[in-house]
Amino acid sequence: MRPREALERLMQGNSRYVEGNLTHRDRVHAGRRAELAAGQAPFATVLGCADSRTSPAHIFDAGLGELFVCRNAGNLVDEVTLGSIEYAASHTGCTLLMVMGHNRCGAAGAAVAAARDPGAFESHNIDDIVRRMLPAVLATRREGAGDPEWIDATARQNVLLVARQVVQRSSLLQDMVEAGDFMIASGFYDLETGRVELLASDPP
Ligand SMILES: [Zn+2]
Repeated sequence: MRPREALERLMQGNSRYVEGNLTHRDRVHAGRRAELAAGQAPFATVLGCADSRTSPAHIFDAGLGELFVCRNAGNLVDEVTLGSIEYAASHTGCTLLMVMGHNRCGAAGAAVAAARDPGAFESHNIDDIVRRMLPAVLATRREGAGDPEWIDATARQNVLLVARQVVQRSSLLQDMVEAGDFMIASGFYDLETGRVELLASDPP
C-alpha cells in the first residue's frame, strides 16, 4: 500500500469511529488471529500517547494486525521507540507513521506546570518526560494565555517536533521518505469529538 493510501485508510477508520459505524469486530476474531499467526503486515504505525482515552485501534477502527502501535506518555520518541518504528517500516511493509497527540494531555500539563514552577519534582522518570516536552512548552508560551490553552498548544507543537525528530534521528526512515516509500503524518485527537485532525505530513 502506498503511503497516501495508508493515510486515507487510517482517516477513513477515524471517520467510521466518529460516526459510530465500527467495523473492526469483523476483523478481530479467531479466524483472523489464525491468519495472522504466520506473520503481520500492518498498514500504519501510530506513535501515540499512553492516555487510556486515545487507543489507536479504537479511534481508527482497526482490526488485529492492522496497526503497529508505539505509546508512551506524551507520544515522545527515544531510541527504543525509534527502533520500533524502523522495524515496522523495514520488516513489515508498513508505509506510514502517524505521530498523534491529543488535547488535555497530562504529559503536556505536567510540562506546563514544570515551566510555571521549575522547583517542583515528582520523580526522575516523570522529570525525564517533562524535560523532553519543554521545547514545545517554551515555543508556545504566550503572555496572558491560560493553562488549558497553553497545554493544548504544547501538545500540538510537541507532535510536530516529535515528527521532525523521527526523520532527523533515523537515516533509515529519511531514505525511505526521500524515495517516496514512507510518509510521516502528524495528527491531533480531540477527546470530545473523537476526530483526528491532520496537522502536517512529511515534516522538513
Ligand atoms: Zn497524553
